[in-house]
Amino acid sequence: MEINKSQRQWLDAFNLDHPLVIAGPCSAETEEQVVKIAHQLKDTDTSVMRAGIWKPRTRPGNFEGVGAIGLDWLKTARAETGMKLATEVANKTHVGMALKADIDILWIGARSTVSPFIVQEIADALKGTDKIVLVKNPVNPDLALWLGAVERLYDADIKNLGVIHRGFSTYEKTKYRNNPEWQIAIDLQTEFPDLPIILDPSHIAGRRDIIFDICQTGLDLNFDGIMVETHFDPDNAWSDAKQQITPKALDQMTIDLKMRKEFT
Ligand code: PEP
Ligand code: MN
Repeated sequence: MEINKSQRQWLDAFNLDHPLVIAGPCSAETEEQVVKIAHQLKDTDTSVMRAGIWKPRTRPGNFEGVGAIGLDWLKTARAETGMKLATEVANKTHVGMALKADIDILWIGARSTVSPFIVQEIADALKGTDKIVLVKNPVNPDLALWLGAVERLYDADIKNLGVIHRGFSTYEKTKYRNNPEWQIAIDLQTEFPDLPIILDPSHIAGRRDIIFDICQTGLDLNFDGIMVETHFDPDNAWSDAKQQITPKALDQMTIDLKMRKEFT
């Protein structure tokens, strides 16, 4: 498969002088929460607001997302702030609803990328779309599964593609929630040099205090953007509380990271 330069068009269309910033809560919780976070992100470098509404949780009994109602909340956030929207889709029903709601970026989560049948189902449901579709790496450190998911989408004539590096599961405890295994992301960039690659430091870190350093490493490796979980009250977030940062902290981080070309 040949992924050519046209893959970068969706990214270039943002017309930014810095890497793309996608930010927002792990999960949409209430309409007030979504809209408030959107307003807090509006005057930062954030171009795209993320929020999960269908949440695949590893163990049952945790918050599994608000479901389709969250699409309306996201649309309100977009109407009020002008930011584009991103959410996770994990089956063809989600795809149908997200397309109907005109969500700008759909991403495939790490627990879906491991399953070729699910990826194929999502690819078929998205066939020919001009929406942006981002593929998170699979939970396990398997480059072929990640490449294969991209290929299934490309073969379904989805041209606005990218990937998200969110780290890999390990049984041993490390300082990371998900080990970055940077070499796998580098190998993916070697295979598909023109495919935009976004860093998800939040799921790599699992904790707030190392997000900055992970971002810096990603930017040094020429990542095209970052996706950072952001909440006005991180400690009380309904999912991934330990790793979320406030919109204010995000704003400061993007300044400290010296992301703009004029600094480099
Ligand atoms: C998320 O982005 O909130 C999420 C569930 O991520 P992942 O699929 O990387 O675990
Ligand atoms: Mn999360």
